[in-house]
Amino acid sequence: METKLGVYICTGCGLGDALDIDALAGVATGEYKAPICRQSPCLCGAEGVARIQSDISGEGVNALVIAACSPRVMTDVFEFGPDKVMERVNLREQVAWSHPPNDEDTQMMAEDQLRMGLTKAGEMQPLEPFMAEDLSRRILVVGGGLAGMTAANEAAKAGYEVVLVEKTDELGGYLKDVYKLASSQPPYDELRASPLDELAREVSGRAGLKVYTQATIAEISGAPCLFDVKIRQNGGEAVERAGAIIMATGSVPYDASRLEGLGFGKHADVIAAPQLEAMFKAGAVTRPSNGEPVTSAAFILCAGSRDPEHLPYCSAACCVESLKQAKYFKEANPETPVYVFYKDIRANGNYELLYKQLQKDGVFFVRGTVTSVEDDGSGALVITADDELTRSPILSESVDLVVLATGMVPTSALGEPYKATAPKEGEEAAEVPADTILASNILNLQYRQGPELPALKYGYPDSHFVCFPYESRRTGIYPAGSVRAPMDYSRAVDDATGAALKAIQCVEMVSQGKALHPRAGDTSYPEFFMQRCTQCKRCTEECPFGAINEDEKGNPLPNPTRCRRCGVCMGACPERIISFKNYSVAMIGNVIKNINVPDEYDEKPRIIVLACENDAYPAIDMAGIRRLTFNSWMRFIPVRCLGSMNLVWIADALSKGIDGILLLGCKHGDDYQCHFVKGSELANIRMTKIQETLDRLRLESERVHLEQLSISEYNRIPEVLDAFAARIEGMDPNPYKGF
Ligand code: SF4
Ligand code: SF4
Repeated sequence: METKLGVYICTGCGLGDALDIDALAGVATGEYKAPICRQSPCLCGAEGVARIQSDISGEGVNALVIAACSPRVMTDVFEFGPDKVMERVNLREQVAWSHPPNDEDTQMMAEDQLRMGLTKAGEMQPLEPFMAEDLSRRILVVGGGLAGMTAANEAAKAGYEVVLVEKTDELGGYLKDVYKLASSQPPYDELRASPLDELAREVSGRAGLKVYTQATIAEISGAPCLFDVKIRQNGGEAVERAGAIIMATGSVPYDASRLEGLGFGKHADVIAAPQLEAMFKAGAVTRPSNGEPVTSAAFILCAGSRDPEHLPYCSAACCVESLKQAKYFKEANPETPVYVFYKDIRANGNYELLYKQLQKDGVFFVRGTVTSVEDDGSGALVITADDELTRSPILSESVDLVVLATGMVPTSALGEPYKATAPKEGEEAAEVPADTILASNILNLQYRQGPELPALKYGYPDSHFVCFPYESRRTGIYPAGSVRAPMDYSRAVDDATGAALKAIQCVEMVSQGKALHPRAGDTSYPEFFMQRCTQCKRCTEECPFGAINEDEKGNPLPNPTRCRRCGVCMGACPERIISFKNYSVAMIGNVIKNINVPDEYDEKPRIIVLACENDAYPAIDMAGIRRLTFNSWMRFIPVRCLGSMNLVWIADALSKGIDGILLLGCKHGDDYQCHFVKGSELANIRMTKIQETLDRLRLESERVHLEQLSISEYNRIPEVLDAFAARIEGMDPNPYKGF
């Protein structure tokens, strides 16, 4: 594209008082030959913006450099259309507000930041959104239980075509076997009827909502708005194109046969909660041992949950399910003795009122760890527990029935390392029956990184506990309900509604060629210069979202609508052939090369800071907003994710004579904060390779440093930057200065 550069420097917000604006303009018009360079006392005001617009329409300016406030603010004001390129130079927060005014070093910093912006603007191309033919806005829902039906119904009500696939012959899922529900509406201390029939009727009769029953997913290929879904049904196969997918395949109860210590499998009258539910639903609550009516019962909560030997997590719904089942007994006969053995009663919110009512109803609550369930010699069962407070053993009265509140295992974990049916140590692995649900055959994704949704923890396919709490690591695929996290019915309804909204967002954004969160609205996407690809597969392996497939020769096959635009692939590619129109290895390399590096006798070291745009860069801005001051040898380069850092930038910087390189990225590890899941972790791994570059150049390893920083740690900015500057000052200047 033929570009005409317009440079606009703001003198408002204290910039004009702190900086020599004419000298800055001289950099633009002199060194960069900018044909248009204007100053404005308030660039974001009506007059300032009108001036820019008149240059665009009258002078043909199509490449804009706005030297003013942080690019994180005034985004709607400085928006001049997708056919222009624009670079914002942060002179306010990161220069004038965080450094002494009218100071030589502050001015040098401002001039360098402007040079860097001018260089980048000169290399950027206008963005053209990725558009393909036959983009679909249809939403596929897999699983016809409460969450699946709710998601499908809500999306259809919002006007979207929906396809719902259910593996059994009717809708309902786990709810089919549920007698009543604990109430999420007043009166909270009473139980309510299951909403299943009404919901299933609504779903089956809703226009635009197509239901496949006795159907499974044979294969899903493609990408958001371009998913091709093969549905296996009655020996045949149907194909549907979908824009987004909601996975609502639920969970299964924890395998009670693994709870022998609680008497399951040993005593016929020790049953799991789903069995009791079915008994009440069928209207026949009898002892399995002899078919006699149940006259007394005990519940054991956390049966397998919150136990490192079984399910380390809280299954979230079983306390309230047991309270509900205790209520069944009291509703049937208020005189029935009922015991509840618990570690904690987790009846949050209004469920507390049901708990309180049961106390009034005469249910015996015992806080203790159950140590045994034994026959009392008459066929009845006695429970022994260690009292949580006194540590002394407590014995229950003899009861007819013991009910284990088994936890939930997400279908996304079945057959995977975290298995409900995992063999114990020393046991042979059981053969998996052909019709078993395994995580890997629910969606059958044709993704190079595997057929299932990657799990975050315990087999749950959530993708990020801070940034995307309702998403998976497969763009456009949203787990909902108890497959996403342990939850009760009412939360599953909320979750499913949220997933429907996420799916709608996805089809709306992607059909306009725009990225989803966290770079929502971004229309750039990675392009591959395939002639130089060596089929090393790093990009296909390292993309955190599995966006890139591979052909049989190992060539990457990008799927732009799966892409989150993080640039991790760009950082990974040793051949440097992956680039965005507004972000590339060469572009940032040239930005670095255009920093003015004073020679070694000037005692002015130069440090580049590659700062993650999601956390570190805004933290630096916030430090500036709070007028915290820090060293002025820093030159800030925002990066989409530290994982997009290509090692060649380090080599470029050191060869240019830059004295130190500071990488500021998000926390990684178990409680990682990286917006692109593992980008900062990959940057950390790549750091080990930086040593080779430093050794080759015979430079000290301390010149390159990675610091983890979260957005809320802006108070640490002066300390982190100044400490690194002090370290660099303590070394000799980079000997490559002047080459
Ligand atoms: S930019 Fe990020 S999400 Fe997109 S293909 Fe590259 S690594 Fe994957
Ligand atoms: S990382 Fe680069 S060279 Fe390697 S396969 Fe991907 S595009 Fe090709």
